[in-house]
Amino acid sequence: MNIANDHVVTFHYRLSDADGNALEDSHAGAPLSYLHGHGGIIRGLEAALHGRAAGDSFEVTLAPAEAYGERQADAVQRVQRKYVITRGKLVPGQVVAVNTERGARQVVVIKAGRFVVDVDTNHPLAGRSLTFAVDIVDVRAATPEERAHGHAHGADGHHHH
Ligand code: ZN
Repeated sequence: MNIANDHVVTFHYRLSDADGNALEDSHAGAPLSYLHGHGGIIRGLEAALHGRAAGDSFEVTLAPAEAYGERQADAVQRVQRKYVITRGKLVPGQVVAVNTERGARQVVVIKAGRFVVDVDTNHPLAGRSLTFAVDIVDVRAATPEERAHGHAHGADGHHHH
């Protein structure tokens, strides 16, 4: 079965930057599943997976615009410390989660004070070219429920993320 819209795709990946630094590796845990054609993963990766099949392995390098976007220079914000979900001492360069009107969001600490924290709200991987080495584990048709929800469900049928 070749990957098309409304298929559930399960894959492992290794993510590295343009200098070859390893950033993420899914092989240590469970593979990732997503519903193809619904924007559940970054656009460039979804496009690269289209038409491939279980057992395929490939590498794709994505420019920032196809991955997490360009860095926005005006994305520095001052937030109340109480909205920072991550506990403990905050250090510059650290990726932390903050509560926003639109849910939890990952930001990078620029400067941490006692009551306020200056953060960069660009995605930590914004502005970077990224290489994904992908191993496709499984491709199957989505269930009617998955199509209605617009995302993949786990093996037990009730897994939500
Ligand atoms: Zn659901």
